[in-house]
Amino acid sequence: MNLILLGPPGAGKGTQAKRLEERYGIVQISTGDMLRAEVTAGSEVGREAKAVMEAGQLVSDAILIRMLGNRLAQADAAGGVILDGFPRTVPQAMALDDLFASRGLALDAVIELKVDDAALVERIAGRFTCAKCGAGYHDQFHQPRVGGVCDVCGSTEFTRRADDNRETVAARLAAYHRQTAPILPHYAASGQLRSVDGMAPIDAVTASLVALLDPLRAARA
Ligand code: ADP
Ligand code: AMP
Repeated sequence: MNLILLGPPGAGKGTQAKRLEERYGIVQISTGDMLRAEVTAGSEVGREAKAVMEAGQLVSDAILIRMLGNRLAQADAAGGVILDGFPRTVPQAMALDDLFASRGLALDAVIELKVDDAALVERIAGRFTCAKCGAGYHDQFHQPRVGGVCDVCGSTEFTRRADDNRETVAARLAAYHRQTAPILPHYAASGQLRSVDGMAPIDAVTASLVALLDPLRAARA
């Protein structure tokens, strides 16, 4: 199954993608995670992307399209993918159509997680992740079961993203509304767009996604 999870920053794409990975045996491709790895590695792409990401703006389409093309060519992508953070512009959506067509892949669904801007600011301001395994948490909405210890791997080290501050969030939300929301009609026109209420608690959002995706998987089998 090949899916796109769409939605503004903080909507819960990464949180839900990790759960869908397990349930459907498909891999999450997060372009934000890939870019952060490039920044940490100090690569040429990372050096170019760093300031743009810290300002809450979008990295160039050319870089992202090349990056996604390379990632889709890796063997594990053949078993199905969940795209998290891509496409983010109309040219990226067009390029994705071509990438899928050239690899003979079909897009099963595009799911929009709908969340109000005010809730997004709270979610992003409270987000932190395990420094070792990348599991996601929130100061208020999803704390580790034992304080200070990752539920998944037991690490006691956590990180917060450089761009998860209230000033940058405003720029990121503006970029979403101006550059990413215009791709929704593209997928509505092709009949692939589904919307899920992302304002509900994490488990309830997962339940809505499963209710939508289980029948799609059954229809494919
Ligand atoms: P995205 O990948 O869309 O940017 P995340 O999955 O990282 O968003 O979620 C942003 C933050 O909000 C995280 O700290 C996460 O734990 C929390 N979160 C995710 N989904 C929900 C939800 N349905 N209700 C409350 N908090 C949530
Ligand atoms: P994310 O982890 O999805 O919130 O992405 C973090 C940041 O990485 C974004 O604010 C952008 O600067 C950059 N980024 C991630 N994905 C893309 C993309 N598809 N196109 C352009 N920039 C991106």
